[in-house]
Amino acid sequence: MLKVENVTKYYGDFKAVDDLSFTVKEGEIFGLLGVNGAGKTTTFRMIIGLLDKTSGKITLDEEPIDYSKTDYIGFLTEERSLLTKLTVKEQVIYYGILKGMDEKTILERLDYWLKRFRIESYKDKKIKELSKGNQQKIQFITSIINEPKLLILDEPFSGLDPINVEQFMEVIKELKKKGTSIIFSSHRMEHVELFCEKLVILVHGKSVLQGSLKEIKKSYRKKNIHIKADLDAEKISKTKGVLSVDKTAEDYIVKIESDEYIENVFKEIKNCKNVTEFRVEDPTLNEIFLDKVGVLYEN
Ligand code: ATP
Repeated sequence: MLKVENVTKYYGDFKAVDDLSFTVKEGEIFGLLGVNGAGKTTTFRMIIGLLDKTSGKITLDEEPIDYSKTDYIGFLTEERSLLTKLTVKEQVIYYGILKGMDEKTILERLDYWLKRFRIESYKDKKIKELSKGNQQKIQFITSIINEPKLLILDEPFSGLDPINVEQFMEVIKELKKKGTSIIFSSHRMEHVELFCEKLVILVHGKSVLQGSLKEIKKSYRKKNIHIKADLDAEKISKTKGVLSVDKTAEDYIVKIESDEYIENVFKEIKNCKNVTEFRVEDPTLNEIFLDKVGVLYEN
């Protein structure tokens, strides 16, 4: 289990990470979220020991993370760090050996992953000859070649097309099933929402929202009501507790302050014609994120 306890990082006088604490258990997928400059990369670098923390404690299975632990950690860095003059095979062997693996095992696993990502033919190609998406696949393969206990993915989906995002997600879910602790950052809330169970939202290095995705959504008071009907949007928007009414291609989305106003909206809708749907949903993570981050940035 990864444990981050009260970690703070200063760059000179600037506080980049502020008293951050969280845990990632075995087989758990944890999301570290925040806008640009929130402190995600700094946190990752402190976890793997690339950067000294100013204060606090970070442990993996109750022990501090030092050089002896790096063989069990995989890290996909945000600034892609492939040696572009090497071939795919040379690159992966290089990383694998750095992680204490023998060449035979590296090559066996490399063949498996190249096949899995349907890029077997690139094995002897130079990295610089590959497209960005395929370079990213190679970087992902290097980060998991050692079957890490802890896998850190800094913006793993940036620059990937939807099909490749799907492929990456499938592999990440499989690693989770095998017990890997996975921590990743992303700006794309829909990715986080799809498979992350716990998360922390950072604003200026400080946690502003933290916990399980389910609980965060439940405890968030605002709700969205999806309505299909011939409704008078203006009238609904004046109903007590209604924050906004938006028309989409499919339906109306009525945002309300909290559960207690559902009935008010329902009463209004009863007078409308052609009502075929009235569905109350939790807001999306993106809405919660914008609400939390937006409000805090305005202050
Ligand atoms: P992004 O999503 O853009 O990658 P991030 O959440 O990963 O952002 P960090 O890279 O951790 O954010 O940066 C956090 C803050 O610390 C930023 O304000 C950044 O400018 C600052 N920072 C990062 N590295 C240094 C450094 N070496 N010296 C001084 N300040 C730094």
